[in-house]
Amino acid sequence: MLKSFLILLLMLLSPFCVTAEYAPATVEMRLKPLTPDVYYVQGKARVATDNQGFVSNAGFVITGKGVIVFDALGTPSLAQKLLALIRSKTDQPVKRVYASHYHADHVYGLQVFKEAGAVIYAPKGVNDYLESETATARLDERRFSLEPWVDDNTILVPPDEIIDSSSSFTLGDKRFTLNFQGKAHSDGDLIMLVEPDKVLFSGDLIFEGRVPFIGNGDTAHWLQTLEKLETGGLHVMVPGHGPASFEPAETIELTRRYLRFMRDTFTAGVEDLQSFDEIYAQTDWSQFEHLPTFADANRINAYQVFLSLEQELLNQ
Ligand SMILES: [Zn+2]
Repeated sequence: MLKSFLILLLMLLSPFCVTAEYAPATVEMRLKPLTPDVYYVQGKARVATDNQGFVSNAGFVITGKGVIVFDALGTPSLAQKLLALIRSKTDQPVKRVYASHYHADHVYGLQVFKEAGAVIYAPKGVNDYLESETATARLDERRFSLEPWVDDNTILVPPDEIIDSSSSFTLGDKRFTLNFQGKAHSDGDLIMLVEPDKVLFSGDLIFEGRVPFIGNGDTAHWLQTLEKLETGGLHVMVPGHGPASFEPAETIELTRRYLRFMRDTFTAGVEDLQSFDEIYAQTDWSQFEHLPTFADANRINAYQVFLSLEQELLNQ
């Protein structure tokens, strides 16, 4: 009798025990509906450690037989807030989480979904990130810059399943197509199409309304990917950052144009043996200067492209 009472007490208390672990994120997070079953939350357009780390997007799909989540936000606290928003719409279990790619602002929330019983999927290449010094250094830095939302209890969750090709599956009344993009924006990128809703989650392959973050991406492959990406018939596209686009073709065109411009500009300069500073100074950046994050990101992006083009030309 006492034992069953204690078990009952534990069951009643356990939801509170689980949720008490993470410092609550108090930043505003609003659920935005895209179709009756597909929602997303939009991170704020600031640097990664502003707004309690809420700078990237995440979305979810209610299928009738469970929930599929795309990306997990930049802290466990934010993921917990997202999970509460999911719970405000459905009691269905979160079956799977797809990580578009392993960058801190998209995956530090994975542990919350793992604890909730979801299976974590990620594109091939994430193990390169997980084993890198960058990953360890970034987590240490975020434990400092995003304290208390990232702390010693925050861990990098490895995926349960690796995706290295493109495939589809059906859950409830939804069909999901996962397209593996290889190394493009990161060491491995993944995008997800949801039908019949015709919603595309693009991760960081597409940035809407701001200068993309190039980092150590492979711009040649990234550009090829975008040039092949079919946008006809899409209802809406959710980028990794910025608002969902109901004009997906135009949105994709901005990222495509930026990458093409960077590559064309620096290919010509590198072939002429010009220095980075010379090429940068003589380039007319006016078509991108008005975009948010231009001042923060453009010169660093340009330098990354310059270095990678030098490397590409050496390898020819
Ligand atoms: Zn990223």
